[in-house]
Amino acid sequence: MASNTLAELYVEELKDLYSAEKQILKALPKLVKAANHDELKQAFEIHLRQTEAHVDRLERVLNELGESPKGRKCRGMEGVLEEGAELIGEDPDPSVLDAGLIAKAQHVEHYEMAGYGSACAWARLLGYNDQAALLGQTLDEEKNTDALLTDLANQSINADAEVAMSSGSDMGGRRRTSHGRHAELR
Ligand code: FE
Repeated sequence: MASNTLAELYVEELKDLYSAEKQILKALPKLVKAANHDELKQAFEIHLRQTEAHVDRLERVLNELGESPKGRKCRGMEGVLEEGAELIGEDPDPSVLDAGLIAKAQHVEHYEMAGYGSACAWARLLGYNDQAALLGQTLDEEKNTDALLTDLANQSINADAEVAMSSGSDMGGRRRTSHGRHAELR
């Protein structure tokens, strides 16, 4: 559907975000399962609960506007999530995987932040202040998740990944790490 007005653009963005959130809802359990660090697993679990609320908020906003949340597929998010699935499929060393999962999840958060930032600004301009507040809550949760992921990466996960890579190359393959599942050497 072509968007000729800001109001139409706003609805299309909300539908796009709805599709993105529904895709994230399906992907997050796979990230929980794939993550090795307990804190990273927990961060994905918490964000899964938050994502359920994000879906609810979008349904509320679109209902208020008399629009169905369905009818759009967010191809951008589809691509971002596909890259995460590819990484998991490559089955790297557990700490390298964790570092990579953080990066992939931050791509997701930034994509959402861009959409919610625009939707919030448009809601305010269009006079939907309650909707702007609701979308702003979600935007804050995405930003907080992004910041938490940065902290986890900086605290230990990136450093663990770096060590894993250097000793891994010495041994010509994978080794078991403190968080690891993989014992085989190739
Ligand atoms: Fe979200």
